[in-house]
Amino acid sequence: MIDLNTHIEGVAKIGPAYQKRLKKLGIQTILDLLYYFPQRYNDFSNIIPINNVKNGSLVCIQGQITEIATEKTFRKWMDITEAVIEDETGSIRALWFNQPYIEKSLKEGDFVCLAGKISLGKGGLYLNNPAHERIRELDENPSISSGRVNNLTHTGRIVPVYSETKGLTSRWLRYIIKPLLTHFYSQLPEILPPEILKKQKFLPIKKAIWQAHFPDSFEFADAAKARFSFEELFLLQLSVLKEKAKLMQKQAPVCTMDTELMKAFTKSLPFQLTDSQKQCSYQILKDLGKPAPMSRLLQGDVGSGKTVVATMAALSAVKSAPSGGGYQVAFMAPTEILAKQHLKSISKLLEKFQVTIGFLTGKEAWMNHVETKKKNILEHLKKGNIDIIIGTHALISKGVEFKNLALVVLDEQHRFGVSQRAGLMGSSKLVPHLLSMTATPIPRTLALTVYGDLDISLIKEMPKNRIKVKTLIVNPTERKAAYQFIENEVKKGSGAFVICPKIEPKLKNVKDETLAGSFIPQNYDAGFLGITEIKSVKQEYEKLSKEIFPDLRITMLHGKMKPKEKEKIMHDFHEGEIDILISTSVVEVGVDVPRATIMMIEGAERFGLAQLHQFRGRVGRSALQSYCFLFTTEPSQLTRKRLKALVDSNNGFELAQKDLEIRGPGQLYGTSQWGLPDMAMQGLSNIYLVEKTRASAKEILEQDPLLNSYPLLKEKVEQFKQHIHFE
Ligand code: ADP
Ligand code: MG
Repeated sequence: MIDLNTHIEGVAKIGPAYQKRLKKLGIQTILDLLYYFPQRYNDFSNIIPINNVKNGSLVCIQGQITEIATEKTFRKWMDITEAVIEDETGSIRALWFNQPYIEKSLKEGDFVCLAGKISLGKGGLYLNNPAHERIRELDENPSISSGRVNNLTHTGRIVPVYSETKGLTSRWLRYIIKPLLTHFYSQLPEILPPEILKKQKFLPIKKAIWQAHFPDSFEFADAAKARFSFEELFLLQLSVLKEKAKLMQKQAPVCTMDTELMKAFTKSLPFQLTDSQKQCSYQILKDLGKPAPMSRLLQGDVGSGKTVVATMAALSAVKSAPSGGGYQVAFMAPTEILAKQHLKSISKLLEKFQVTIGFLTGKEAWMNHVETKKKNILEHLKKGNIDIIIGTHALISKGVEFKNLALVVLDEQHRFGVSQRAGLMGSSKLVPHLLSMTATPIPRTLALTVYGDLDISLIKEMPKNRIKVKTLIVNPTERKAAYQFIENEVKKGSGAFVICPKIEPKLKNVKDETLAGSFIPQNYDAGFLGITEIKSVKQEYEKLSKEIFPDLRITMLHGKMKPKEKEKIMHDFHEGEIDILISTSVVEVGVDVPRATIMMIEGAERFGLAQLHQFRGRVGRSALQSYCFLFTTEPSQLTRKRLKALVDSNNGFELAQKDLEIRGPGQLYGTSQWGLPDMAMQGLSNIYLVEKTRASAKEILEQDPLLNSYPLLKEKVEQFKQHIHFE
């Protein structure tokens, strides 16, 4: 028996090739197909008598084919199928270009409905590439309300247009979906609770699903869309809030704040905390003292000083342990460089507080400033001898066990960290608190949905000693002057970053690379040949160290290097033993070298605004004036506009907003990988809908936290949860 949950393999009309294409869209079952909604509609509902058509108008006509033939025009290498259609008011030609199969499906004498644009050619008015559909006989009084017209699928109605990906046409989808709707729509269960349907005045499911695909009017199409976008965001809200509620039932280690200790910590700092830092710290410390696990996102622009806030939380957790067992903190960074830097800065911040600090990455293990074996670290962690462990993803690898994990800090993860927390938790009964840190601003709609289970603390202000970084777009002709400027700064004792888009040299837009290689000498500006030369770390290193700055100390840094090498380089750069560091985007997040005052970015047009802002944030970290040079060989207006935005704004949130407009949310927040249904995805930009669904979800969960009186809804929420993955 076929039903809604039957897999598409069970539908006779869907062959293996189509099964594959549908699965690429995440469509597995008949139900999924019915929930594959059109992107827009074509209005072909206006059936008019043939003698009423006008040049340029979009029309639908009905009539009988009196002639049809296909001709090959050799001059234009084109098949043209021509037909003449007649109704009682007159006749008109229809032309199809390069669609020879039309002649196979339409014959002389057939009654057809055709929809398309009227054009004017040598032989008079004609229908240009119209959509076609055979009908049984001519409708005497064609109108949308007549029963037979409503039976039409591709013409004579408001016709759904689906997002057409490789090999799936709207025509084919209509051909498949319509009969499935006819058979199965009555089996569709209503998952929205009746009180919501009533309150929101939504169409009931059976009607809504028809109206979404084959609407009787645009009003109905809108009403259906309103219902399904609500439905999908509502499921998202329920799944996020339900998880949160479940988590809040769990026990976390209670880390009571020691006010004296916190005072001592702030006093030991070489600077005054900003008001924002103080407020955020207080929110976090308060959460840590509660028996429910904290899930908090600490958001603050590049350089706003998140590390010190997290360190304070870590110290509080470690020192608040009940007698007997020491609480532990895991501090996880996305890259080895960052992890190492955190090790250094946190060790320094906690110097006076007698905290045992461990370090673990894929390749290195340290304990209290002494290198050791991974095995030892694992053992000490398990015994509880390490208070704070800093590291990379290695911390959630197999064999890592804690005695008493109280707090997990995730730096620059830009996402949930729920699975990281779970990974670190192991078999422990207590759920550790979670503090996730990010410099990426989160729009309100996302904060209330996908990040909806996190409380957010925002560092709104920058430390007072900062001077705004001067940002300049540098044209190819100004390169020399820029180099001169850099040399002067470096000679005064500053450090300079040079960022290149890639490690190895290679030319883009050139098919024959050997040819390109022989034509274009290295280091040659190939712009005039119409070839974009993408600067590489290795090439720039050669050029800068040999030709431009032969007497400066220059080093390369990139992701392919060994951690030891990278670390030595970062250390030397930090200490002023390297003048210029040529690097890929590995220095993008978090790297902190206060003496560096120059950030020079090659091929700036190749990076997103948020990323460029991150690069820029590597300088301006001391009381010295810093500079950010954006080198670009691309003169296009769009590039200019984007880079200009960076010159004009120093505000990460504004820039992210711009990036969002220019590049879409997928790039910025990884939304394209979340697996959200289209409707939910679109809904994410609608704050009104987001707030409405959130309120409804909260309301229902307050009455019934486990959704026990809504079994269908509960099941759907579970399914929904399995489909999405925010990590
Ligand atoms: P981010 O928020 O980007 O992670 P960091 O935590 O790396 O920023 O801090 C950037 C720099 O600012 C560090 O060198 C840190 O010591 C310093 N810093 C942090 N807070 C303050 C403050 N209140 N006043 C002055 N400097 C500060
Ligand atoms: Mg940081």
